Amino acid sequence: MRWSVPSKLLRTPPEGEGPTSVLEVDLAGGVSTVPLEGETPREEDVLVGLFDGVVWYARAAERPTAPVTDFRRTPTELVATASALVRWHAGAPRCEVCHGPTRSVVRGQRRQCDDCGALLFYRTDPAVIVAITDEADRLLLARQRTWAVGRVSVIAGFVEPGESLEQACAREALEEVNLALDSIRYFGSQPWPFPRSLMLGFTARVNDPGTLQVDGFEIVEADFLTKRELEERLGQGKVTLPGPASIGRALIDSWRH
Ligand SMILES: [Zn+2]
Repeated sequence: MRWSVPSKLLRTPPEGEGPTSVLEVDLAGGVSTVPLEGETPREEDVLVGLFDGVVWYARAAERPTAPVTDFRRTPTELVATASALVRWHAGAPRCEVCHGPTRSVVRGQRRQCDDCGALLFYRTDPAVIVAITDEADRLLLARQRTWAVGRVSVIAGFVEPGESLEQACAREALEEVNLALDSIRYFGSQPWPFPRSLMLGFTARVNDPGTLQVDGFEIVEADFLTKRELEERLGQGKVTLPGPASIGRALIDSWRH
């Protein structure tokens, strides 16, 4: 997917527009690989939008009639949007103002409070992911505690309240690998519906790679590698990189090539 180009998904088509198709979404957010073509949307179905001449809806289904895929395997706007919206509604958020019960309105694009009338919007959780290089153009690759030995990526973390994206990059680097960042530059973004993140990619320089020290809590191993060292380790099967659909991989590949 090229997330930097405008989407073909029209999220607010006029009602009654075009043929309809329904994507079933399971409780874990998996989206059916075989849509229910021509299905008339039900009251509780959520509008995904107009795509390739078809108006798509998403339906919560405990057991979808076809196998499901997720965004890692099928990174499209349809899968991301259907999965994110259905899980949002399944969480049945209470009103943020008065904690009253809410219900789906505007074909599932909003929820509204029955008690005070407040409108609730879908929210995304911003997370930064940053590719850190040193003056010799070596890239920092790190392993999280929960990952299998050999799996590495660039570092990432959620944005804290009151923080800019650049500050989040700098804080994560200091907390997780004890590095002071410089020249923090935006790279690109990607939806990451697990369950509702927006990944914001950055590149950054570190002037003193010698301070590198893993926190031992979130990050258990980290190293600066040259391009040659990385290719050698990949060739020997000693390291594995994030999947091709991820922005983490896009950051690493952008440095590699
Ligand atoms: Zn309310």
